[in-house]
Amino acid sequence: MRTLIDELSALLGVSSLFLGDDISEKYYADWSGADACAPAVLVKPKTTDQLSKVMALCHQHDQAVVVQGGLTGLAGGATPLDGELAVSLERMQGIEEIDPVAMTLTALAGTPLQVLQDTADEHNLSLPLDLGARGSCQIGGNVSTNAGGTEVIRYGMTRSLVLGLEAVLADGTVITAMNKMVKNNSGYDLKHLFIGSEGTLGIVTRVVLQLQPKAGSSHTALCGLSSYESATQLLVELKRSLGSGLTGFELMWDNYYHKVLATVTDLTDPLEGKFPFYLLVEYKDNNAELGAERFESALFQQLELGVIVDAVIAKSHQDAAVFWQIRDGIGELLQVLGPVSNQDVSLPISEIGAFAKDLKERLVAKYANIDLLLFGHIGDNNLHAVAYTGLEEDKFKINHDIMLMIGEYSGAITAEHGIGVLKRDYLSQTRSESEIALMKTLKSTMDPKGILNPGRVIK
Ligand SMILES: Cc1cc2nc3c(=O)[nH]c(=O)nc-3n(C[C@H](O)[C@H](O)[C@H](O)COP(=O)(O)OP(=O)(O)OC[C@H]3O[C@@H](n4cnc5c(N)ncnc54)[C@H](O)[C@@H]3O)c2cc1C
Repeated sequence: MRTLIDELSALLGVSSLFLGDDISEKYYADWSGADACAPAVLVKPKTTDQLSKVMALCHQHDQAVVVQGGLTGLAGGATPLDGELAVSLERMQGIEEIDPVAMTLTALAGTPLQVLQDTADEHNLSLPLDLGARGSCQIGGNVSTNAGGTEVIRYGMTRSLVLGLEAVLADGTVITAMNKMVKNNSGYDLKHLFIGSEGTLGIVTRVVLQLQPKAGSSHTALCGLSSYESATQLLVELKRSLGSGLTGFELMWDNYYHKVLATVTDLTDPLEGKFPFYLLVEYKDNNAELGAERFESALFQQLELGVIVDAVIAKSHQDAAVFWQIRDGIGELLQVLGPVSNQDVSLPISEIGAFAKDLKERLVAKYANIDLLLFGHIGDNNLHAVAYTGLEEDKFKINHDIMLMIGEYSGAITAEHGIGVLKRDYLSQTRSESEIALMKTLKSTMDPKGILNPGRVIK
C-alpha cells in the first residue's frame, strides 16, 4: 500500500490525497449509515485523465476501490469496505455545455443535481429529474443508480434522459461515448452498461443529458381518497384527460401522511377531513390559464364521480411547496425514527394495494409495536415501505421478511435505490439465474481483477 500511496501522491499532489484522521467521517458511509468504515485512502481527482491514472495504478497494485458521489445512496454502495481506497468525484464539477437547439446539457459527473436543474432553468429549459437529495446527490451518482424520482411517470428514469457519457474502467481505460443525438443505432449502445450498474463496471465522469422545454405552468393538488382502487382508477382517468402533462402521482397511506404532519414542524394539514389515502397530483402545461382550467375540470369530474372524496388545489407556489413538503417529509422522518427497515420496491400497480395490506397484516402478526409507513410513486409501480419497532435487531428481520415477500409477489426488491451491498444477497428474489450469470460475466470481462466497487450488486 505504501508504494501505491507514494505513486498516487506524486500523481495527484498531497492536496488531493487524504489518509487517517485527515479523512472526514462524511466519507465513511452513504446516507443509509450502515456499516460505516473509514477508507484506507481517499482521493479526489480533478480530471478524467487524473482519474484514469489513479485507476491504472490501483489496477496494477490490485487495490480495491469504492466510488463516491454525493453519498446520498441508501443501499450502502458507496460505503467503503475494509481496506478500500475511496475515489470521490466531488472535485469533478461543472457544466461544459448547454445546447439550446438540441436541448442538451453536458456536465462533469460530480456536479450536484440541483446545479444542473438551476442551470437548465436559467436557459428556460428543464431537467426532468428530481429527488429529495437534489442538493447533495451528483449526476454521476444519479446515472450510476439510474435514479427515479417524482417525474418518472412522464419522463422515465435517469436512463431515459442520458444521451451519452464518458466512463473510466477498472484498468484506467477511458470510454468516450459522448453521444448528443437521439437516434444512434451504430452498434452496441454502451452507455447502458454504466447506467444503473452502481459503479461496478466503470466510473462515470461526464454526461450528456436530454433537457425539455420549461413548462409554462405547474398545477398541484392534494386529494383525499377512500381506497387504493380509487387511486388506480384516478390514474387511468387523469392519464386520459391530462395526457402527457401528468408529471406527478404520489400516493400516501394515511399513517405516513399523519406521521409527517405530526413530526415535521410548521406543517398543517391542507385538507379538512381524514382519509385512508392521500394523493399528490401534479400537472404541467405550456399555457398557464388553459392548464389551470384543464386541471380543475379533470379533478372536478372525478370529484363528482366520487373517485376523489375531497381535494385542495394549490393557489400559489407556496401551497404547492407545502404539499410537496408532506410528500418529501420522509427525509426528516428518517432522521428521528430510529432503526428502520426502509424499502423501495416495485410491484404491478394493480397488486400494490393488496401487497400493502398483506404486508401490514404479516408484520403486525410477527412484531410487537410495529409501525408501517407507506407511500410511493405508484404510477411507476413504486412503493416505499418504512417499518420500525424501535429495535435495531428487528430492522434486519423485517428487511429479510419484505425481500422474501417481494419474491413471492414477483416484484422487484428495489425500484430506484439500487442493490448496493444491503440488498445484494436477495438479488435472486428479483433476477433469474441466467440474468445473474450474465451480470457476473460482464463484471469479470470489464473488471477482471474485481477491484471496482467489489461486492456491490453481485458477489
Ligand atoms: C432524502 C433522500 C431522498 C431520495 N430520493 C430518491 C428518489 O426519489 N429516487 C431515487 O432514485 N433515489 C433517491 N434517493 C437515493 C439517492 O439520492 C440516489 O440513489 C442518488 O442517485 C445517489 O447519488 P449520489 O451521488 O449521492 O451517489 P452515492 O450515494 O455517492 O453512490 C451511489 C452508488 O453509485 C456509485 N457511484 C456514485 N457516483 C458514481 C460515478 N460517478 N460513477 C460510477 N459510480 C458512481 C457509488 O459507488 C454507489 O454504488 C434519495 C436519498 C435521500 C437521502
